[in-house]
Amino acid sequence: MIDLTITQALEKLKSREISATELTRAYLDRIEKYGADLNCYITTTPERALSDAAAADARYATGNTLPLDGMPIGMKDLFATRGIRTTAASRMLENFIPEYESTISQKFINSGTVLLGKTNLDEFAMGTFSKTSYFGAPVNPWQMEKRLTAGGSSGGATSAIASGLAIGGTGTDTGGSIRFPAAITGLVGMKPTYGLCSRWGCVAFASSLDTPGPIARTVDDAALLLATMAGHDPKESTSAKAEFYAHSAVSPILGEGKKLRVGVIKEFANVEISADMKRIFEARVADLKSMGAEIVEVSIPNILDALAAYYIIAPAEASSNLARYDGMKYGLRVDGTDLIDTYKKTRAAGFGDEVKRRMIIGTAVLSSESYDVYFMQAARVRRMIADSFTTAFNQCDLIVCPSSAGTAMPLSSDLTPLEYYALDLFTVAMNLAGVPACSVPAGLADNGLPLGIQVVGARFDDMRVLQLAKHIEAAAEIDNRPTKIMGK
Ligand code: GLN
Repeated sequence: MIDLTITQALEKLKSREISATELTRAYLDRIEKYGADLNCYITTTPERALSDAAAADARYATGNTLPLDGMPIGMKDLFATRGIRTTAASRMLENFIPEYESTISQKFINSGTVLLGKTNLDEFAMGTFSKTSYFGAPVNPWQMEKRLTAGGSSGGATSAIASGLAIGGTGTDTGGSIRFPAAITGLVGMKPTYGLCSRWGCVAFASSLDTPGPIARTVDDAALLLATMAGHDPKESTSAKAEFYAHSAVSPILGEGKKLRVGVIKEFANVEISADMKRIFEARVADLKSMGAEIVEVSIPNILDALAAYYIIAPAEASSNLARYDGMKYGLRVDGTDLIDTYKKTRAAGFGDEVKRRMIIGTAVLSSESYDVYFMQAARVRRMIADSFTTAFNQCDLIVCPSSAGTAMPLSSDLTPLEYYALDLFTVAMNLAGVPACSVPAGLADNGLPLGIQVVGARFDDMRVLQLAKHIEAAAEIDNRPTKIMGK
């Protein structure tokens, strides 16, 4: 049962072939079996899951159903869930139980989903392998004996979904944290347009970049999840007055003489990527061409500076956002001799090394001596990148590019902070520009591991991004059924 996609499971529930309770139990059993080893959940909520499932079954009995009724999902442990521990994978929030529900998790409740638990992530979503989690790193179910990363920061979500420990779930993407983990686990990960999905009740990392989005096994499933997540939220000041609708399968955008210009970014051509990624990218672009797309070269002149700009802007915003964790209002508190000493002791004990590094960098680039040379300069580069995307989308409809340079690396890889940061090369520019980007499975490398390609669109062109992604998905034909990946 756990090999069913959301689309298939909804059909079977509607036809009463299976019940939501049966489906939920199948996932709970599997979490019981493999959850500890994969370490993809920080908190599981089996009782809540069964009561959600019973409520869904009651609705199926009356025929009065909700859009995602009975779908067992994992919620990234960055979204506040009322009465359920929400940790951001930090010791600082290890025992934090919110008294409110994030907009995104509320929307999932309103859509009838079943909450299986809160998925693991990098501490405060800062990282690329989910190794900065206070609760230890999740494991990639592909070639599990190799203990590869499931990516980060939404690595708990991708580990859970790829292994059949959730049918789909949420992630957040500040610099690639949905797309990179999805790419290296053979999943679809969509970073929507900034502002399409509300950040209200989602633990803040870098507010001008943070973007909640869906992770699923197919493009159709991702579209269904996004339809639940999207929409204006009066509680959130950067929430756009926009909607995203997806009631049925995502429709084709190519074929039958349809015209579409697909851009390839010139500046990425000289970036070193693995031979597999190069081969797969070229093959998929050739497929799009044979399906009738016109391939055009576009230029985003400053795209290779996106990393530098991102690693100034994101830490700057993080240093400000994380000032709230001082041991006074909520979260960890380590008492010291006086107020300042309590702050110091609390923060020293509560934050991990990477989070501290970001706060120090962020505080430095915002200091009066550095503000103009670092922060303002980064803000200018950001503006130029955003403008270049706007220009590029006058020359093409959508853009395609690799999601990563190569396949999943071992969790034991010992990279320097700068080597980790460099892995975000293909993803951060889209966050700086606020444009939608979806990583879709594009092929298998010679080592048998999956690789992804991104489809990027103009702001609020999220549906067309998914439409083109669906053609790539069909051409790549990756078998990402959990029982196939896990061999059990
Ligand atoms: N790897 C990036 C970072 O460490 C992206 C993280 C994210 O998107 N949350 O900041």
